[in-house]
Amino acid sequence: MKITIGHLYPDLLNLYGDRGNIQCLMKRCLWRGIQAETIPFELDDKIDFSRLDIVLLGGGSDREQMLVCRKLRKIQKDFRAYVESDGVVIAICGGYQLLGNYYRTDQGMITGLELVDMYTEQGEGRLISNIVLKSDLFDMPVVGFENHGGRTFIKDNRPLGKVLYGSGNDGKSGCEGVVYRNVIGTYLHGPLLPKNPQLADWLILKALQKKYGPEVSLEPLDDTQEKEANDYVFHRFVK
Ligand code: GLN
Repeated sequence: MKITIGHLYPDLLNLYGDRGNIQCLMKRCLWRGIQAETIPFELDDKIDFSRLDIVLLGGGSDREQMLVCRKLRKIQKDFRAYVESDGVVIAICGGYQLLGNYYRTDQGMITGLELVDMYTEQGEGRLISNIVLKSDLFDMPVVGFENHGGRTFIKDNRPLGKVLYGSGNDGKSGCEGVVYRNVIGTYLHGPLLPKNPQLADWLILKALQKKYGPEVSLEPLDDTQEKEANDYVFHRFVK
């Protein structure tokens, strides 16, 4: 089996080293004898979504998001077809905001990809904190760090999780992130996947099942250290 990961615009959307998440996905495949490759795309590259099994869209500053959004219209149709046919996407922070209809900032309007019916508006101050969630998708809590000025409103979409500590999508709803088909959007940036191996495996499993059939399952890995680290953060902030 083989997984191909498309990394969209690492030169612009790589705030706080979101790229490390790719290494985590690759390693977790290779440890199981699943081949893995990553194709980085720059803004003017043509993207053949039919070759990709997982797409990663990382975080960026408002300025970088503004630059990216002008080009996104070109890939919107193909990207939407990929999502609607259950292609797997992990979109983080600025990339999460770009999944939606728009991100309104006091510097102007950033048009989104309109892949998920949601929107983001800049609010008073930034939401900066460690964050812990409980998600229906995983047994383990999801832990991470958030730093965003935008407040995201996901309408009737399903959130990634309930906020146990931190701010989440808008600081008020008690929800964080979004799950739509095989797309996960979240404000948790930096080493999201190394800290949350169950989330990494969810992405890998969805990608493999789409490609090779629903009977595919993942061999468990020894995640003792990852679990200890996750547990430490959970107890530090939630008890
Ligand atoms: N520029 C966006 C915001 O501030 C996203 C930031 C990020 O990717 N960390 O809301």
